Amino acid sequence: MSELALKAEKLDAADELAGVRSQFVLGGDVVYLDGNSLGALPVSVPGRVEDVVRRQWGELRIRSWDESGWWTAPERIGDRIAPLVGAAAGQIVVGDSTSVNVFKAVVAAVRMAGSGRDEIVVDATTFPTDGYIAESAARMTGCTVRPVTPAEVPGVLGDRTAAVLLNHVDYRTGRLHDLPALTAAVHAAGAVAVWDLCHSAGALPVGLDEHGVDLAVGCTYKYLNGGPGSPAYLYVREELQDRFDSPLPGWNSHAEPFGMRPAYEPAPGALRGRVGTPDILSMLALEAALDVWDGDGVSVGAVRAKSLALTDFFLECVASYVPSGRVESVTPVAHAERGSQVALRCADAGDVMKRLIERGVVGDFRHPDVLRFGFTPLYVGFGDVERAARVLGDLVR
Ligand SMILES: *Cc1c(COP(=O)(O)O)cnc(C)c1O
Repeated sequence: MSELALKAEKLDAADELAGVRSQFVLGGDVVYLDGNSLGALPVSVPGRVEDVVRRQWGELRIRSWDESGWWTAPERIGDRIAPLVGAAAGQIVVGDSTSVNVFKAVVAAVRMAGSGRDEIVVDATTFPTDGYIAESAARMTGCTVRPVTPAEVPGVLGDRTAAVLLNHVDYRTGRLHDLPALTAAVHAAGAVAVWDLCHSAGALPVGLDEHGVDLAVGCTYKYLNGGPGSPAYLYVREELQDRFDSPLPGWNSHAEPFGMRPAYEPAPGALRGRVGTPDILSMLALEAALDVWDGDGVSVGAVRAKSLALTDFFLECVASYVPSGRVESVTPVAHAERGSQVALRCADAGDVMKRLIERGVVGDFRHPDVLRFGFTPLYVGFGDVERAARVLGDLVR
């Protein structure tokens, strides 16, 4: 056995989260390093979904809106996500896609910022949907979009800045941005900070309340394992909720939804982030998936510590197994700048990823030349990491 394989055994033996792995369905002899695209299935989900479908829908039917807690699911599940992103209860609602929530948040941010502010600063390296939506939100609100890299953000803020839309972790490089410092800079300029947490929630501490973030959005099918297309969430800081003027004021966000009034009056609190009838089946699958976080010793802090150990070990194994110069990590080495993934630039990355998957190592390819490996500490072990790097080394040699 190689030295690194022995080290992996030792690290796995000392891993306090190792037991959580049995709460996931991880069939086949596969190393799954794509949980940053679609989290694995928690074992508790199929039974819960079956109950929701057969009993709550099949037998109770309309009564379930009340008796099964369907109506209040968006805020109840929001309160389950809250501690994972450092938020007190009453500030998060679950529903709609991330893209839709980016729209709500950016338009609401501009409306909050007030007159005279007509610029939306957007991360130029963002996941495309955020940029597309910000561009449309800008046209609708009479703003212009200013795309800059996150490092350039402090230098472009000013009296005209209305809102700043940033990613906590870059989806391609895995770079973790400095949320406290950037949020403080946005506030110093009198603007509203909107953070996209898709690649950080469930993988590392976010500290929304602590750092005074104004608005935030995120998906739940990556590190929160909610399942394909599971609903996203929207955070509205408590002090701003009265001023949150949704561009999608559907009846679910009305102060009295069953009053069926012709005039709109927003519900108090985070509820005004709701829109229409929630997607109950997906939402309740997500609720079951979140049970994993109730386990002994499972915390965002423990997850972060293991995540850094996994990515450190992966980089060590890659350095040892992959011929030098064949791949180049574009993920920062400094822990303070690293999310829970490692992205390797590699010639023929598309073809290499195809062959990795054939050999049972599942990551993904990001255009044009990036091999992306996501590390979900709840179900990825150090043995997986060693094998992934070893197979990669064999393939590119
Ligand atoms: C995954 C991801 C999305 C996904 O948006 P959907 O509307 O859920 O498809 C958006 N933004 C970022 C930064 C992402 O990583």
